[in-house]
Formats: sequence, structure tokens, C-alpha cells
Amino acid sequence: MSSANATHDPQLRSWVNSANEPGGDFPIQNLPFAAFRRAGSREAFRGGVAIGDAVLDLAAVSALGVLQGLAAQAAAACMQGSLNAFMAMGHEASAALREALSAALRTGSAHEARLRPALVAQDAVEYRVAADVGDYTDFYASIHHATAVGRLFRPDNPLLPNFKWVPIGYHGRASSIRVSGFDFPRPQGQVLAPGDQEPRLAPTRRLDYELEVGVFIGRGNPLGSAIPLAAAEQHVFGLCLLNDWSARDIQAWEYQPLGPFLGKNFATSVSPWVVTLEALAPFRLPWARPPEEPQPLPYLAGPELQRAGAIDIQLEVWLQTQRMRAAGAPPLRLSHSGFSEAWWTVSQMVTHHTVNGCNLQPGDLLGSGTQSGPLPAQAGSLLELSAGGKQPLTLASGETRTFLEDGDRVTLRGWCAREGCTRIGFGEVSGTVLPAARP
Ligand code: CA
Repeated sequence: MSSANATHDPQLRSWVNSANEPGGDFPIQNLPFAAFRRAGSREAFRGGVAIGDAVLDLAAVSALGVLQGLAAQAAAACMQGSLNAFMAMGHEASAALREALSAALRTGSAHEARLRPALVAQDAVEYRVAADVGDYTDFYASIHHATAVGRLFRPDNPLLPNFKWVPIGYHGRASSIRVSGFDFPRPQGQVLAPGDQEPRLAPTRRLDYELEVGVFIGRGNPLGSAIPLAAAEQHVFGLCLLNDWSARDIQAWEYQPLGPFLGKNFATSVSPWVVTLEALAPFRLPWARPPEEPQPLPYLAGPELQRAGAIDIQLEVWLQTQRMRAAGAPPLRLSHSGFSEAWWTVSQMVTHHTVNGCNLQPGDLLGSGTQSGPLPAQAGSLLELSAGGKQPLTLASGETRTFLEDGDRVTLRGWCAREGCTRIGFGEVSGTVLPAARP
């Protein structure tokens, strides 16, 4: 597990002035990675690191030859079109590059003049998903979400007995993962309307978002091996924001007995920036299961987990309807929750995923499952906020919502803040629902 070091020093300032503005997402203490190119260009995508309102082009940095050793090798790996090769180098490489970039971007760095031309304004770039995602697994790690959703489907038995023992997950679809800014038509599927005897094919009427944290795997493990909990975080490159768009009516009709399928696999959106676990080191919290609850099996427990297994990430959902956009009204915050409330940690998800010998590979993506807090207003989906569609939300515009309407734009945001530390952010992931495609 990474611990705080000189790169987290709150006194650090960057010669990129926008990085020093209080409350920004990308101070020099953050240094998240993305794959980018100039917007509208035919340039090759390559790795970049966020600093203030700019992207430092790592391909350009690599070509300048200002880095040495493992940091230089890591930057060279970022010249490729995705970050898979960089992620595969493991946490030592990302730590070496982070340390070198922190020094190079610091006020007073001898490299300022040479690096300044390698900055590109974030306003002027476009992103792709940071890695080529070979496999995507979505977990279900929030007990508040699992209980609230279970209560809607099974009022007498909301939480299934395995939840407190097994990090529940399903294998999702990698091909439909898109970076922030992906707008997609309302999907159609089989739905069984209330009172109907037979299903029909129709556009979903219960389109929802899910507020999740994404986990990019760094170094993988060979098939047949398991990753012990104490080593789990060495296999994690970093975290992002993830919206697991969900069609609740399609999902409700199809999910038994094998779990989610077409109700989930039409789109998953991720934020472009991946915040490394090292950057999150100052925001770790002790992890503990309440004594009255089942304690995890030994393979999912350990002293490091108890000392600092949880990560304190604040998460938000914002909605802007088409009418709000037309009126120039800003997005409205629908809910706010925290990742530290999760029943299962990132390390437990990684270890459980491999306990049977399943191999994770660099760039694989895990979703945390919808992160809801204990209060109704902390729900990470409309399914929960509208009590299964029974209690419409009234927006400031006077509109109401149970589920998403055409033209709705959903934005997820996340950040970490703590007394004595510099706030860091994840940026955002947004997407807009378009009208259903005509058959
Ligand atoms: Ca999900």
C-alpha cells in the first residue's frame, strides 16, 4: 500500500499557475493519467498527466529526454495509444514517473522552459478510455444500495444472505465502455409492463444511471494464481469515475437466474482521468466490520486492511435536463455519497476476483457497484431516489423525474479532501440520453 511521501506535500506549488488555485481537481499533488490528443485532430492518442487546466503530453516529455531510469521507461510506455503498457509495468513504474513529474512540474524546476511547450490546454483536447479494456467486472460493494434495491424487489428479504460474505459481481461488457462525453440513444429491449401477460420489444422507460468508482488493473496475475490481500493494491493502477447506465425494466425481466445482461451492456461511461492509488494515499481510512456483523473470511482480511483499507472519496451525481440546458440553468445535484461507506474495499474485490485462479490483465476494469450512503438522499441511482419509480423527484425547473428522459445529461464527480492535505479531484464523467433510434 502506498504511503504519503514528498509528492503529497501540501506546500508543493507548480509553475503551471492554474494548478495552485485552491479547490481545483488537478494540483501537483494529484497527477492523474489519461489517454488524449488534440480535439478534432487525427493525431495518435498518447498518455498525458493533468496539471491544473492543462495536460502534460507524456509522449512529448519522453521525446525531450528530460527523465531518467524507470521514470523515462514509464514515460516511453505512455507514447502508445493506450496506457495498457504503462499499467503493465506495475506500481513501481507509476511511482517513479509520478516522482519525476512532481519534481519537473514544481516551482523552480530546471525543466520548466523545456516542458512548457509540452502542455496542452484541457479545453483543447479529446480523450479516449485510458486503457484498452480486455475484461470488465462490475461488483455490488455497497450494502446500502444492495439493501435499498433488494427492498424494492423483495420487501420481505431485501439483502440476500451471501452479500455479507462474498464480494458479489458479474462479468460485464468491455466493448461498450466509453469515455466521458458519450451520448447514446435510449436502448430497446424486452420488457414486461405491469399488468401485461407477455413481454414486448420496446425502448426502455426506466433508464437509470449508477454512481460507481472504477478500478483499472495494473500488473496482472498468471492464470491459476491468486492475488493475496496483502499484495492486492500492487496490482491496481488507479481509480476513475464510472457510470453503469442501466435499463431497469429490461433488467427486471431478464436478471433471473443468470444476472444482468442487455439491461446493462449497452453503455458504460468512465472519466478520462485515472487517479493513482499513490495519489490517494493521504485519503486512506481504517477499515472495520462492525463487531455484530460477520467478519470476512481470512483471505479477505489482514492488518493493512484494518489500518487503511478504505478510501475516502466524495461522490456526486448531477443532472441537467434538456429544458434546463435551453434555459441556461446549471446542473442540479441529485445526490452525494462516499466511497468509504463501501462494504467491500478495492483490495478485497481484487483478491476475491482471483481467489479461484482467475487472471486479471493490465487495463482490466472493475466497477465498485453503485455507491449509495445510508440516507435516502445519498442514493446512487434513480431507482433508489424515486423508490422504484413511485416517488417522482421535483427538479428546480419544475420538471419531475422518476427515470431519465431524452435529453437528460448525467454528470458524476468525485474528489478527496482532508484537513492538512491538498484536495484532489477525479474530474467528471458525463453522458446524455438521446431519443431511441427508429427501428
Ligand atoms: Ca452496477
